[in-house]
Formats: sequence, C-alpha cells, structure tokens
Amino acid sequence: MRETAAQFLSHMPPLPDPATFEAVFFILYDQLDLTILPPPHPRLLLIVVESLAYATALPHHQKKLTLILSAQRHWAIAATKAGYAVLPLFTLGTHAQGIAEFLTPYPHLSLTYFTPSEWDVRQQMRSLLQTLPNSITECPNPLFIAEPKAFVDKISKGYRLETFYRDLRRSTGYLMDGAKPVGGQWNYDKDNRKSLPPRQPIPPLPSMDPDVITQEVMHLVATYLPHHFGSTDGFGYAVTRSQALELADYFFQERLPLFGAYEDAMKWGEPFLFHSVLSPYLNLGLLSPRELCQRAIAAYENGSAPLNSVEGFLRQILGWREFIRVYYEAQMPTVRTANHFGFSHPLPTAYWTAQSDLRCLQDALQNVLHYGYSHHIQRLMVLSNFSNLTFTNPLELNHWFWLAYIDAHEWVELPNVLGMATYADGGILASKPYVSGGNYIHKMGNYCQSCSYQIKEKTGDRACPFNYLYWNFVDRHRQAFDENGRVSLMTRKFDEKTPAEQQAIRNSAEKFITNLPRGLAK
Ligand SMILES: Cc1cc2nc3c(=O)[nH]c(=O)nc-3n(C[C@H](O)[C@H](O)[C@H](O)COP(=O)(O)OP(=O)(O)OC[C@H]3O[C@@H](n4cnc5c(N)ncnc54)[C@H](O)[C@@H]3O)c2cc1C
Ligand code: SF4
Repeated sequence: MRETAAQFLSHMPPLPDPATFEAVFFILYDQLDLTILPPPHPRLLLIVVESLAYATALPHHQKKLTLILSAQRHWAIAATKAGYAVLPLFTLGTHAQGIAEFLTPYPHLSLTYFTPSEWDVRQQMRSLLQTLPNSITECPNPLFIAEPKAFVDKISKGYRLETFYRDLRRSTGYLMDGAKPVGGQWNYDKDNRKSLPPRQPIPPLPSMDPDVITQEVMHLVATYLPHHFGSTDGFGYAVTRSQALELADYFFQERLPLFGAYEDAMKWGEPFLFHSVLSPYLNLGLLSPRELCQRAIAAYENGSAPLNSVEGFLRQILGWREFIRVYYEAQMPTVRTANHFGFSHPLPTAYWTAQSDLRCLQDALQNVLHYGYSHHIQRLMVLSNFSNLTFTNPLELNHWFWLAYIDAHEWVELPNVLGMATYADGGILASKPYVSGGNYIHKMGNYCQSCSYQIKEKTGDRACPFNYLYWNFVDRHRQAFDENGRVSLMTRKFDEKTPAEQQAIRNSAEKFITNLPRGLAK
C-alpha cells in the first residue's frame, strides 16, 4: 500500500498542508466530473480516497479495479491542472473511515460531498461522519437526469419504464416535437430486433494504450489482488475524460447508425457489435448522460444516424439507466435479499471458469472474463436466462454480476439482476420473467450451428438445454406466467403437450439441473 501510494504521489505536485484550508470537498470514485465542483479557491481542498476495504469487499474483476483506480488517479492530476489543491488519501478501511481519520486532527475543516450512488458507501459516510465535530454537508448527486424524489413513490407494481421514459422525454424535451415525440412514435423497437447478416462488417472497438499511471495500477492489482476475477492483461479502457470523449466520438460516427437495428444481435467472437461500450465511463462520471443524449439527438438532426437508432439509444440512457437508478433509490435496502422463486442452487461453475459446451454461454462468459463486459442481450437472454432456467440463487448471480463487470456498481447492477433479469423482486420492475428457449438465441445469434447441442431437438441428451429448461420453468413457475396476459399463453401451450412430451421435458431438465457443476472450480 505504502509503495503504491508513493508511486502515485510522485506524479502529483507537493502535497498541500490541510491546516491551511477551510473547506474540504470529497469526490468519490464514480463522481469524476470536474464541472460539478465549485470553482478553485485558495481555501478549498479536494480529497479523493483509495479504499482497500472497498476494493476487496468482493473479488472484483482486475480490469474493473484498474479502471476505477486509474481513472481516479488521472482525475486527481487533472484537477490539480485545473487549479485545485488535491489530496489523495489511502486507507485500509472504507472511504468514510479514510475521511474520518483525515479530519480528526482538523476539526476546523468543513466537509462537503455528493450523495454516494452506492448504498453501503452512503450509509458508511452518514453514520461515521455524524460523529465528527466538523461541519458536514451532503449535497444531492448531480450526475443523473431524473430527481429520484419525484418518482420513488411511484415505483411499485405498475409504474413501468415506458411511462417513466415518456415523462422524461416530455420534461427534458429530448426528441420531442412540441408535445409529440419526433417521428410520431415513442419507440421503434420493431425496427431494432434484426439479426446480423453474416457478412455485416463490424467496426473494431479502439483500445487505449495504458500510460505509466495505468501501468502502475495494473501492476498493483495483479500483484496484490491476483485472486480477483479476470486479469489486467490487455487492459485498453479509457481512464480520462478526453479518452472517454474520443471513444464517444467514435461511437457516434461509426456505430450509432446501426446501433438500433442490431441492438439485440449476438455473434460468436464479437463482444461489442454496435454497442457503445460507454457504460464504464458514464458510471464513473467521465461522461454525462445529458451530453450523450444530446449528441445522439444531434446525430439524428444532422442526418448522420436514423431515428430508430437514436431513439433506441436515448431509451437506454434517458429511459432504462435513469429508471434503474430511481428503482434502486425506492427499493433499497430490502430488494437486496429478494428471491421471489426461492431458488437456492449455487452459481454454475462455468460463470467462474468461462468453460461450457453450450456455445452461446461460453461466448458470453469468455467476454466477461476477458473484458469484464458482455452486451445487454448476452447479460439478459443468455447469462441471466440460463441462471433462471437452472433455478440458480439470484443473489449469487447478483454478486457475480457486481464483481465480474467493468461497469458494475450496485445501483445499476442490482436492479438489472434482481429486478429485470431474474424477477427476484416478484414483478416490481419487470412485468414477466425474462426466460426463453433456444429459439430466441438461435434467431438472434450464430452460435447454434457450431454447438454440440441440437437446437431443433426438444428433449434428450443431444437437445439444446434451453429448450427443455424453458418449458420446465414454465411448468414449475406457472403462476408468474398465468398472472400476465402477455405470457399466459405459454402455460396453455405447455398444457397442450402430450403427457409423454411433458414427462420428457421434466426428465431432461431434472437430469441437466442435477448434473450441472456448481460453485467455484476446485
Ligand atoms: C443482468 C444485467 C446486469 C446489468 N448490469 C449492469 C451494470 O452493472 N452496469 C451497467 O451500467 N449496466 C448494466 N446492465 C445494463 C446494460 O446491459 C449495460 O448498461 C450495457 O450493456 C452496457 O454496455 P454499453 O455501454 O455498450 O451499452 P449500450 O447498448 O451502448 O447502451 C447505451 C447505454 O445505455 C445504458 N443502459 C442500457 N440499458 C441499461 C439498463 N438496463 N440499465 C442501466 N443502463 C442501461 C448504459 O449506460 C449504456 O452505456 C445490466 C443488464 C442486465 C440485463
Ligand atoms: S443449441 Fe442451444 S445451447 Fe447451443 S448455442 Fe444454440 S441456444 Fe445455445
């Protein structure tokens, strides 16, 4: 710890003496936006904290820790260049403990901070700092578009994304023509479900060369946290705002036009397709949701991207991302233990090793192990779907998503996993469980032709496991389907199968679920 702190401090100007300041502003790892700060002032000191307790609370992906630490270090240097006095703190404890240790000898210093997005960090700050004699101010977090207070009471069964999204379109005026949506429709989902033509060229995702600061962090993570998920090898994520902007420019030029059409497509060996891969930077504050929405709208207005892509992208950021955050504010902390179906099986071993003979699962898992990333449809319709269909404990899946993904912070990861993907909250966020058989994966991806299982076979050892696992799920959890008009048809379809077909489904599913290796590989 001492060695790595000294390495980083060698890149900073001489450390300021805290006794000479009046006010301290604490900036968290996911608030790395210089524009949200008060202007530089000779009596104002900024502090950032590297917390070992935070980094090791879960075995987070080594690339994720590299990203967070390197981005924070680069931000501290950028802040000094912008005229701020910046003091980096290092603690074995939590962020709150680091700040409390620092403030104790300086009771004259006032402290201001923005509400932390993540529950634990927020609670730790609130409970520990209250005990200090210093003047403490917590300001609303300015890094989101929606003000949660206006919506949290509505988050109960029935207030869905679509209503929220329309409300936000109206209040921001984004992609609006007076009171009407531009183009006359609120969504273009029907144009956004194309599978990828085999010869469709895919623009490569640019990779950033790690500079000396990033290399030091990579070394630190690989040396001291080698048991964490994944590795630092091949780290190429942006770690500064200017690099993140470069990647955003590239997205708007090269990928946005086809983003909509191929939003749900999957292809072996192509982790990114036409997705933006901007979530890691949005979630750290290096990019702002407003600027990305505005740039997407500008791309439509100047004719460089079609409406289905621009609306689709806006829906993700203005709609889903903001909705998810409001849901988190409304449902924490009780949702943390939600397990509607009561599934108790440990996570399949494949999630740790990325080895599976299900071709679609293997591709998604390899992307996660290597990049800490897979795109939305792989997260939802492959990884979460498989977890649901094999009756895996959603709380284990939730922890895995939190630690394995480069963009995972609890406020955004948990609602997606326990709300959207697993129905663990019993239908507060989503109107139905997101489960499907192999046909969906077959239609949207190119995996099945090279898989050792047969997509056309419905039961038996050679059949695609998603096929019988899906019907087995429908049968076992029919209430979740019966209650919902959109999917109640599926239970009726199961009931129309012959008793022999039904029994074959149950037998195949039981055999597969019983034999599925679970838990960390020995
Ligand atoms: C099980 C599961 C877990 C997820 N965990 C995370 C997570 O830990 N962190 C995270 O940022 N997103 C998460 N998502 C949402 C979404 O999958 C990712 O935001 C997206 O894949 C990030 O890649 P991208 O930047 O290329 O996204 P794009 O496809 O380019 O979408 C653009 C942006 O829209 C936003 N967005 C899209 N969908 C969502 C959503 N459902 N919730 C929140 N933001 C959304 C993201 O900021 C994203 O960068 C999860 C989704 C699922 C189903
Ligand atoms: S056959 Fe089934 S398991 Fe294999 S790739 Fe296709 S959907 Fe996945």
